[in-house]
Amino acid sequence: MKIAIVGLGAASFGTFLALEKYCEKISCLDIFTKKEKISDEKKIYSIDEIVNFYKKLNYSKPIPPKINIQTKASDTSEIFKENYEAMDLWGSSCLPLSKEDLAYNRFEFDEYTESYRDIAKAIRISGCENDLIEEFLGDTYINEEEITLDEKLENLLKKFDKSINKNNIILGKARLALSHNKKSNNAESERIKCECSLNNCNIHTLFLSNDIERYIQDSRLKNNIIYEKVEYIDFENKKLTYNSIKKKQYDVIFICAGPKETMGLLNRSLKIKNFQISDSQSYILPMFSFKKNLRNAKDNSFSLTSLIGVLRQDHSKNEKEFIQIYKISDELWYQALPKMFWPLSKILSRFIYACVIYLDDKYKINYIINYKNNNVVYKKIEPNSKSKIKKFVRKIRLLLGDNFKVFKIFLFKKKTSHHFGNLKVDDIPLKTFAHKYEKKGIYFCGSATFTKLPSISPTFTIMADSNILAKKAILDFK
Ligand SMILES: Cc1cc2nc3c(=O)[nH]c(=O)nc-3n(C[C@H](O)[C@H](O)[C@H](O)COP(=O)(O)OP(=O)(O)OC[C@H]3O[C@@H](n4cnc5c(N)ncnc54)[C@H](O)[C@@H]3O)c2cc1C
Repeated sequence: MKIAIVGLGAASFGTFLALEKYCEKISCLDIFTKKEKISDEKKIYSIDEIVNFYKKLNYSKPIPPKINIQTKASDTSEIFKENYEAMDLWGSSCLPLSKEDLAYNRFEFDEYTESYRDIAKAIRISGCENDLIEEFLGDTYINEEEITLDEKLENLLKKFDKSINKNNIILGKARLALSHNKKSNNAESERIKCECSLNNCNIHTLFLSNDIERYIQDSRLKNNIIYEKVEYIDFENKKLTYNSIKKKQYDVIFICAGPKETMGLLNRSLKIKNFQISDSQSYILPMFSFKKNLRNAKDNSFSLTSLIGVLRQDHSKNEKEFIQIYKISDELWYQALPKMFWPLSKILSRFIYACVIYLDDKYKINYIINYKNNNVVYKKIEPNSKSKIKKFVRKIRLLLGDNFKVFKIFLFKKKTSHHFGNLKVDDIPLKTFAHKYEKKGIYFCGSATFTKLPSISPTFTIMADSNILAKKAILDFK
């Protein structure tokens, strides 16, 4: 059987893990990506290199905030204004969706559970098995020790545990996808506790798209990664055209190109002009700590998502709003501050933290898109979330108690979030539109097929969803 995967991101990883089980059935597997080949060495930058990097920056360009963990990706901005390459960095927060939210997706809850588990055999997921988040989500697939928290956040977590019922928000340590700097990257091998928590750590790094690529390269399933953009898909004859001239025919094609690029492929290949795409709304709320901890501060605690929280309503398991609490790293301060203030970055990191709030599906932003003479014209429809966010900030203030202060005047909207989904093709949800092509052996993967955008990080579910689809597709193939 000849198979093609378009894309080398989260959805393709889920697909690939399913295909690995059927090695003997697959005679040829081509994976297409627009990215350049990764270098063999996974480099972790020293602080001097980071400073030099920021010194050289041209500030009119988007700046990669996570340079310390090496990525080429820029952060998201307005979806059509910035030419960012899909999601080179898929981040680290690795959470399953709740049962209620999974009910909006195309497969059964048990199928998701099994696929989450299969993925957790390939990725190491760190987190705390004893906190309330674990209890809330039921099973978070943790197979790695938790990371070390900043002391102030650790204290907040302890204090918060006691006030849980009053606030209706559940707070816990982040679930991070990690990769070991050891020969065996098999998640089932030994767990490692890492005191330095990833910042320039010699043992761990975050599991990013480079690791997906490496996993695929090391697999026993013979495959060929083609570093080319797929221009057209011939949906009748299952042919892919890339590099303008080359065409190749397949038995099965998985489209794992991310929602925006899936839309582009449908426009170029089937001349479809009208689409809708959605994204969750998010806000950033700085958190100020006025307590001194200059003497005991640990500079090397983790600086990306450190704590996560969900707001539940009526004690049901269905999550509503999701928060990520960050310690702000030096590198982020270099990005935000004029150079003369850089020496203050270490001090500022001990007093100012960030809370990112993701609102639930009801407040999602819809983009109505029309292709006119090769140009994309779009209208953004954004539900008014002012009173919602006001209430939520009040809840957060309660949550933080006297550990941190938050001020509404510092609250600002993130230009857009990163959970693009709910792709509609001529007003038809992609998961319905896809049926016709699935019968022919062409499958659409990833969040574009999700009709509900819950606030929780979506990538683990994007992987699981494509994993289930690929298992079914191969079994269907006679
Ligand atoms: C800064 C940042 C932080 C994030 N943090 C988190 C987080 O902590 N947790 C979380 O759950 N999510 C996070 N996300 C969201 C996450 O990145 C996406 O939800 C996820 O990557 C989507 O997966 P995907 O497979 O659908 O698309 P992608 O992972 O974007 O993969 C698409 C792939 O298709 C390829 N491609 C596209 N078009 C073509 C074409 N025509 N031909 C060939 N190849 C093509 C691309 O090169 C890419 O390899 C973050 C995103 C950003 C930007």
